[in-house]
Amino acid sequence: MTLDVLVIGAGPAGLALAAALCETGMRVECVTPTNPTAPWPNTYGIWEDELPTPTLAAMLKHRWTDCVAYAAGEEHRLERVYGLLDNSRVQAHLLAACERGAIRWHRQPARSIEHGAAYSSVTLDDASVVRARLVVDASGHAPIFVRRPPLREIAYQAAYGVVGTFTQPPVRDGRLVLMDYRSDHLTEAERRNEPPTFLYAMGFGDGRHFVEETSLAHAPAVPFDLLKARLHRRLAYHGCAVAEIEHEEFCLFPMNMPVPLLDQPVLGYGGAASMVHPASGYQVGAALRNAPTVAQAIAEALAVSDPSPVRIARAGWNALWPAERLRKHRLYLFGLQTLLSFDEGQLQRFFATFFHLPRQSWGGYLSNTLSMAEVMQTMARTFLAAPMDVRGGLMAAAFQHPGMLASALWNA
Ligand SMILES: Cc1cc2nc3c(=O)[nH]c(=O)nc-3n(C[C@H](O)[C@H](O)[C@H](O)COP(=O)(O)OP(=O)(O)OC[C@H]3O[C@@H](n4cnc5c(N)ncnc54)[C@H](O)[C@@H]3O)c2cc1C
Repeated sequence: MTLDVLVIGAGPAGLALAAALCETGMRVECVTPTNPTAPWPNTYGIWEDELPTPTLAAMLKHRWTDCVAYAAGEEHRLERVYGLLDNSRVQAHLLAACERGAIRWHRQPARSIEHGAAYSSVTLDDASVVRARLVVDASGHAPIFVRRPPLREIAYQAAYGVVGTFTQPPVRDGRLVLMDYRSDHLTEAERRNEPPTFLYAMGFGDGRHFVEETSLAHAPAVPFDLLKARLHRRLAYHGCAVAEIEHEEFCLFPMNMPVPLLDQPVLGYGGAASMVHPASGYQVGAALRNAPTVAQAIAEALAVSDPSPVRIARAGWNALWPAERLRKHRLYLFGLQTLLSFDEGQLQRFFATFFHLPRQSWGGYLSNTLSMAEVMQTMARTFLAAPMDVRGGLMAAAFQHPGMLASALWNA
């Protein structure tokens, strides 16, 4: 029997799309090596306004209205509400939609795939074969089936974090620190020669805090040992130490993966489809937001008589990566490439300028809700308002990577 869609992976992206596919009435199955109810391992932060429905917006387990960033000696108040997803509630919400659609789970990894004219066949770990008119690969940042153009240098976001109690509050209770680039705890040589990192931190209001030393993007990835040592030095500089560790987070994922090949017979989703925002590393909001549109496009493609997997996948890719989003992504990749070339001082001055922009501009840029014209305007405003050395760095990047900029500006 051939089903409509087989989803590989039940992380936030796979589950969001599986739920949306089920809502359209398609016959959906999902392959996941773990139980689909197994807790997602990561802590997901998100701007409240990125959650696409009031139901999902009510699924934040913590909300912060007191949000700040520190860069270039300034405290920037970010007038925007930030939250932590209540993973178990979001997961239960998506699972309920899947169950309403009578989804079937295969609790084992997918191993290989073959494509025919009318369906694709996926072989599972136990050698059983599942046939589907479309296979969606949502197996994460190193996808099992999705193919992408080669990339010479992968820049990773890396972070080491601790949830726990501290001898002194590391940040004010009830406050969210999106980015603290202050580096007085480092020596001049460290600031000059080592990759820049910042603190991402939040107080839960009950004496517990989450503090994470983060490298926004670096190639190669900043090692966890360095991040951990930096976190403890930063805390010590502020007269604070970890008292009790509740949870340690080791975060590592690629920031600049190219968009997958859009003519392949498999559709990707989430990390597998390079949906991580190159400016921030965030992805979960986009996975939740885009799922209904992509599911609808798949449903429409399936309704056409005898479409091939490649045609159905193409409809999904087009919904996920329409021309304007592709061009914006190229611009974001160019922006990231520029930041990779900045030293710590330039980076701080860049973010100080960026967070001085109107909230709609920096917020829309980080959430990917601006039009192409607005993204360009935001970049131009940042350039014009930035100090000379940052402007110089931005111009140098344009000369060093003319192809990246040109492909964003002129290729549809
Ligand atoms: C520690 C950490 C913190 C992060 N924090 C944030 C954040 O705050 N906000 C944000 O937006 N993003 C964050 N990210 C980035 C990104 O959103 C996450 O990586 C997110 O989990 C990606 O979702 P995904 O569903 O695409 O992939 P994953 O969450 O990696 O899920 C993929 C699933 O596929 C399954 N799978 C893999 N191989 C197979 C196979 N062969 N067969 C079947 N199933 C398979 C895996 O078991 C897994 O369950 C974070 C990433 C990390 C690592």
